[in-house]
Amino acid sequence: MGRNKTQYFTTPVAGTQEEKIASMCAMLELTGFAASFKNTASRVNLTQGTIHDFIEDLLEKEMLYREESRIVRWMQQARFPFQKTIDEFDFSYQPSVDKRVINELISCRFVEKGENIIFLGPPGVGKTHLSVGLGLEAIQHGYDTKFVKLDEFVERVERERMEHESDPTFASKIFKLYARPRLLIFDDIDFYDTGKDVSTVLFKLICQRYEKNLSTIFTSNKLFSDWGGLFGSKERAGAALDRIIENAAVISITGDSYRVRDKVKRLKLTVAQ
Ligand code: ADP
Ligand code: MG
Repeated sequence: MGRNKTQYFTTPVAGTQEEKIASMCAMLELTGFAASFKNTASRVNLTQGTIHDFIEDLLEKEMLYREESRIVRWMQQARFPFQKTIDEFDFSYQPSVDKRVINELISCRFVEKGENIIFLGPPGVGKTHLSVGLGLEAIQHGYDTKFVKLDEFVERVERERMEHESDPTFASKIFKLYARPRLLIFDDIDFYDTGKDVSTVLFKLICQRYEKNLSTIFTSNKLFSDWGGLFGSKERAGAALDRIIENAAVISITGDSYRVRDKVKRLKLTVAQ
C-alpha cells in the first residue's frame, strides 16, 4: 500500500525579502495576501500601526479574495443561461408576482429549510429570470447552485446511457452533478413522454433530493397535471409530485410576456388614440 505523497515546501533562499515573500505566497496560494502585501505594509507604516494591524489586514484581504473567487467559480459552475438579478426584475410590469414573497425568498431561508419553489406561467413572463436571480442570491449566501433545462438534462441522461450501454450505474455522473447541490434549478419542465431511462433517473433524482432535504426550483408553462408523462407511470408521477409539492411555494405568473412589452405598449397607445 503506497502512501499519499505530502506536499513538500522549502523556503526560497535567493532573492530580496520581497521576492521571497512573493514566492512563499505563491507556494501557499495566498493570492489576496500577496496582492495586498506592499500596500498594507506602507499603510501600516504611515499610520504607525502595530504588527497585529498588519497581520489582521492581510488575513482579511486573503479571506476577501477567497470569497470573491469562490463566488466567481460557483457562478461559472452553476451554468446559468444568463446572469440577471432580482433587482433587474421590473415588478410593476408583472403585478401577479408579489414582491414581498420574492423578497422573503431572497433571504434564502427556503434553501436552509430545503423547500422547493415552482414558477408557473406562459413563456416570457420572467420565470427563468426570477430563478436565476434567486440562484445568484443562493451563491452569495454560500449555497452551491446548479441550473439545468429539462431538455438538456434529458439529452445528458441519454448520452450517458449510450456511452455506458450495459452499466447499471450509467447515471452516477448525473447524480453527482444534480443530486448534490444545495439548490438545483430545473428549468422548462414542459416536455413529456421521456424514455424509461430518463424517467427512472429523474424519479430517483427527485427522491434523493427530497431525502436529503435539498431545494429545487422548477419552472414550467404546464400545469402539474401535465408533468405526469415525465415519470413513466401514474404511480411514480404521483409519488414524485407529492415529494415536490409537500414543501413548496407555488408562484403563478399570469401577465404578458416581457419580450413583447414594446408591442403591448404600442398597441395600448394605438387603442387610446
Ligand atoms: P420565461 O422563463 O418565463 O419564459 P424569461 O425569464 O426568460 O421568461 O424572460 C424573458 C426575458 O424577459 C428575459 O430576458 C428576462 O430577463 C426578461 N424579463 C421577463 N420579465 C421581466 C420583468 N418583469 N422585468 C425585467 N425583465 C424581464
Ligand atoms: Mg424560461
